[in-house]
Amino acid sequence: MPDLPVAAISTSLVTVGPASYWMETTGATKNLVIESPETVEGFEGQMVGDRFYAPLTPDNALALRKALPNLTPTTFGLSLSVGFGDRLGICTPGHVEALNAVGGKIKPAFAQQSIREMGRTNRTPRNVLDDATWGAFQAGWTGPVGADADHLHTLEDIDRCVDAGYIFFTLDPNDHVNPEAENAAPARCEELARALDWSALNSSYDEFLATYSGHTIDLETESITLDDPALIRAMAKYGDALVQTVRMYRHLQSKGIEFEFEMAVDETDYPTKPAEHVVIMSELKRLGAFPVSFAPRFVGGFEKGIEYIGDLAELQRDFEIHAEIARVLGPYKLSLHSGSDKYSTYPLIAAATRGVVHLKTAGTSWAEALRVIARRDPVLFREVLDLSIREFEANRTSYHLSCDLAKIPANPSDSELDDLLTLIDSRQVLHVGYGTALTMFHDRLYECWLSNEDELTQIIRDHFIKHLEPFAAWA
Ligand SMILES: [Zn+2]
Repeated sequence: MPDLPVAAISTSLVTVGPASYWMETTGATKNLVIESPETVEGFEGQMVGDRFYAPLTPDNALALRKALPNLTPTTFGLSLSVGFGDRLGICTPGHVEALNAVGGKIKPAFAQQSIREMGRTNRTPRNVLDDATWGAFQAGWTGPVGADADHLHTLEDIDRCVDAGYIFFTLDPNDHVNPEAENAAPARCEELARALDWSALNSSYDEFLATYSGHTIDLETESITLDDPALIRAMAKYGDALVQTVRMYRHLQSKGIEFEFEMAVDETDYPTKPAEHVVIMSELKRLGAFPVSFAPRFVGGFEKGIEYIGDLAELQRDFEIHAEIARVLGPYKLSLHSGSDKYSTYPLIAAATRGVVHLKTAGTSWAEALRVIARRDPVLFREVLDLSIREFEANRTSYHLSCDLAKIPANPSDSELDDLLTLIDSRQVLHVGYGTALTMFHDRLYECWLSNEDELTQIIRDHFIKHLEPFAAWA
């Protein structure tokens, strides 16, 4: 065991064979330090005395993943898992501490970001993965890690994330879901369903109906009988999305890598009905493109950064029926998206799925990290808030929100700034303001976070313990 210098971050120390690895921080700069009697291969850097100093570069992140294999993303199968969606690249230590505090058995995807979020934060898939590697290493995470290439819409999105080293792919065919079918007349639904690209599904309109018509799925608490009108409507709504999912899956397959995938229709306009769930997953199964998890659109409101909006008893029943379908047709995991801050829903989905579940959070780490700014740099916080209010109409695009700008206090005192991250209206406005704020105030924000890193980690830790605790017993 080496004698660690004061600049060392002691949680990071790990020894593999004759080599010890740790992270050191001097002011704003962090380095990986390696002490080894053998030549240090694969890393770039320089010897200082008998220690090798390696900067936190992409190549060194890759070399570290090879040296410490638990940091190389792996598949999780049906294990209970959580995606942390850190847009800042500095919140992983807080996530690790929260995981450890609840027993350390939940499987984490520290690297998880959608292409949309990467665009708004000027990060690449590889940046996201490397930041998660450094954060997990710094905090001493010794368990396995996943890496979720979230909400991919195109084949090109897949290429970029495969190249970076992702292993979990969330395929989002939302652009191909047809909301018109929700309320269209039966004749219109038939027209839409007949017009699908059936050859891409190795099927035909008639063959589809012959396969499922009158078919009954016996669940634990009820049974679902598929009648022709429901089948036709389900296909009119989701048929083209199935074509796109299979197309994306085949593209992934052609890469020759080990991977898992999720199918996500959570960002659609209408809740996914049980019969629609059955049709989607039965068709994917038939086509040999079977996901490890499925994210339906559940009933009620899953808005960014705030509690669930809706009837919890209704949501519980929705969780239960989707979980029963997932057990009968799978098993596969149910995936809960926009899962940040929905505390009332966690015990319900954990129990309904019996722990065969994935929780996806995104953005809540950014909102919580702003508490550090509110406490340490009120001037900067006010600038972030003003910008987020000014740019709100552009920022809100593609997010589900119900905040009212008029309800945000006009001249908050310094001691009230922290509360703005708790109050719904200001929290949502700040929550979706990350892109413009990070572009405009990047250096000042990071300077404040990095000079108050322990406080940041503590805030993130406490916030995530509340998310993870209801799931920990099922892991
Ligand atoms: Zn989602």
